Amino acid sequence: MSHDPTCIFCRIVRGELPSRRVHEDEDFVAFHDIHPAAPVHLLLVPRLHVESLITAGPEHSALLGKMLLLAPRLARENGADDGFRLVVNNGPGGGQEVYHLHLHLMGGPRPWKRT
Ligand code: 5GP
Ligand code: ZN
Repeated sequence: MSHDPTCIFCRIVRGELPSRRVHEDEDFVAFHDIHPAAPVHLLLVPRLHVESLITAGPEHSALLGKMLLLAPRLARENGADDGFRLVVNNGPGGGQEVYHLHLHLMGGPRPWKRT
């Protein structure tokens, strides 16, 4: 299934739940994290519902490549001028809370709230 009606990020991607969007294209939506851990904290989310890197496969190679290459552009456009951190939480051991693959993009002036 390309989307899961019970998944909050699928619902945000489809415009069924509100978010502060900073980017959208045919493959991705990016929006501000509701609990920012840094002055700039964006979530970069593929439109396709993939649970995590644990369930991703070779068919997602192009999507994953595009996601990484989009990050520096979003960082620059949103005020993370001097670099940024990317985090992907995977599974319970990785502290994942939302089971729809996403990149945390964090940046901006330090100190940050948590790392
Ligand atoms: P993870 O699954 O990588 O552990 O984290 C999920 C992230 O999504 C958390 O940083 C949390 O603050 C964020 N988040 C959870 N629900 C919402 C929501 O409804 N809207 C937005 N903008 N962020 C959310
Ligand atoms: Zn989803």
